[in-house]
Amino acid sequence: MMQKERRRITGKQIAFVPTMGYFHEGHLSLMNKAKEENELVIASIFVNPLQFGPDEDFDTYPRNEKRDILLAEKNGVDILFIPPVDEMYPTELSTIMKVGDRANVLCGRSRPGHFDGVVTVLSKLFNLIQPHRVYVGMKDAQQVAVIDGLIKDYNFPIELIGLPTIREDSGLAKSSRNVYLTDQELTEAVCIQKALNIGRELVVNGVKSSSEIMKQVEQIILKDTSGIIDYIELLSYPRLLPVTEINQEVILAAAVNFNKARLIDNIIFDSHGNLVKRIS
Ligand code: AMP
Repeated sequence: MMQKERRRITGKQIAFVPTMGYFHEGHLSLMNKAKEENELVIASIFVNPLQFGPDEDFDTYPRNEKRDILLAEKNGVDILFIPPVDEMYPTELSTIMKVGDRANVLCGRSRPGHFDGVVTVLSKLFNLIQPHRVYVGMKDAQQVAVIDGLIKDYNFPIELIGLPTIREDSGLAKSSRNVYLTDQELTEAVCIQKALNIGRELVVNGVKSSSEIMKQVEQIILKDTSGIIDYIELLSYPRLLPVTEINQEVILAAAVNFNKARLIDNIIFDSHGNLVKRIS
């Protein structure tokens, strides 16, 4: 179906916005920017079983297809692709994709196989949709780095655009999983972004040692939340290699486990501490 539909569209600059649905303003910002910069926007909703671990929230992942269809229509999406699982994976895969180094840090470490599932489904969607550009959120910066690797390694003729994280007024990154947080946790979660920014300010003020920066970020998060820190990492971006001195573009990222949700946030900045908001 999707392939047939795609073959009918010729001579247009096509943008693709892959999602798992339950739209919030983060998703909508990708759709609107994609529409602004391209002639046609195709979005997908697919909660991809392959990227969820056995103890993760695949079955309970929040869904609201009716609302999503209306929101997509209002936010510049021309075609919304919602394939059922058995259409995406009719048979067991005979070729398995495996992400290298970029999956062995940050979220990849505590979610083994997650990024293998992401590149598998994206490769399928890229082939079905054949977009010129793909729009993704820097909130999932490791995912952006992994997609950057996939596109370059396998010569997908697609331009990757990473757009800034959309936040609540409090500074908390919008996420479909924020619905799992209690009011108390919502208040506490705000400190993750604050701590990361304090880390960046240290760089602006001339601190170059990555261990010093990570230590200070950790202390703030420990002090201000009941959540359990999964990681605080500072790595080169997009290669995601360890750095001891900040002398290139880096990602400073944290993941914190709350009772029912694991929240992630990050910032990317250069060696002077200047924020990098968009990747293209
Ligand atoms: P998801 O539905 O969580 O897979 O997200 C679909 C796309 O939306 C991904 O490219 C995410 O990085 C992006 N996204 C999720 N949350 C945000 C946010 N708060 N701001 C910007 N983009 C986001």
